[in-house]
Amino acid sequence: MVNRDDILLELGLLPEWRLRPRAGLGAVGQRAGTPVAPAALPPVAARAPTSPGTGTGTEASRPATDPGPRLARIAALEWPAFAADVEACTACGLCRTRKRSVPGVGGLSADWLFVGEAPGSEEDATGEPFVGQAGRLLDNMLAALGLARGAGVHIANVVKCRPPGNRTPEPLEIEACRPYLDRQIALIRPRLIVALGKVAATTLLRVDATIASLRGRVHRCQGLPLVVTYHPAYLLRSLPDKSKAWEDLVLARRTMVQVGSEARSTLPG
Ligand code: URA
Ligand code: SF4
Repeated sequence: MVNRDDILLELGLLPEWRLRPRAGLGAVGQRAGTPVAPAALPPVAARAPTSPGTGTGTEASRPATDPGPRLARIAALEWPAFAADVEACTACGLCRTRKRSVPGVGGLSADWLFVGEAPGSEEDATGEPFVGQAGRLLDNMLAALGLARGAGVHIANVVKCRPPGNRTPEPLEIEACRPYLDRQIALIRPRLIVALGKVAATTLLRVDATIASLRGRVHRCQGLPLVVTYHPAYLLRSLPDKSKAWEDLVLARRTMVQVGSEARSTLPG
């Protein structure tokens, strides 16, 4: 058992956030020593061609059009076209204030998918998710799991463009952006999804509930196991909940070990 006081001490001493190796966690533990490949998906692999001056306004400001073709296009997107499609998206008002869209980063068939809320100012400037202060805590959470950014980890957000002033994304913005997240999950088929914070958890699980009521058990999203924990930006402000986040990471790692052994036991031969 990991001692609770040790946990609090370690969580307070960032970036020394380490889950101590324990017997029986070899499958994931081995990853800790594995050199991490550079992210397989650059933040914006291909910039969409832009045509200044030719636009007739955003989709959101046009009269309602049939959303069917857009949904069908996104549901059929393959990776090479994904980032450019997001970059060209004008389906909600956030496109007017973004500098860059932030589609996501990481392995295209990563075992782990971490889903946050929305880009902040540093993400908006760089096109990469979780590069600001919350990102540093996310990196510590990854390290606690024996992980690092790279091929085994994909990081994305519920909405791909920054809400002005870092406000919470509105339901219509979440709904407009959701097809991209759904497609990312379908393309990656991660072994485990970790929802970071209330917006990610309630969007992915399609429920209206608190983190406190959703954490501590394994949910399903698109048939895949999903674990809920606090958003790193919230944890930066709330020391007591860091120990709960630690418990969530332990659950995530246990679940990953379990799905890993299930996958092995169903392999042919
Ligand atoms: N917070 C998020 O939810 N996502 C980011 O990319 C950065 C901060
Ligand atoms: Fe499109 Fe999503 Fe950006 Fe809105 S937040 S413009 S739906 S990519």
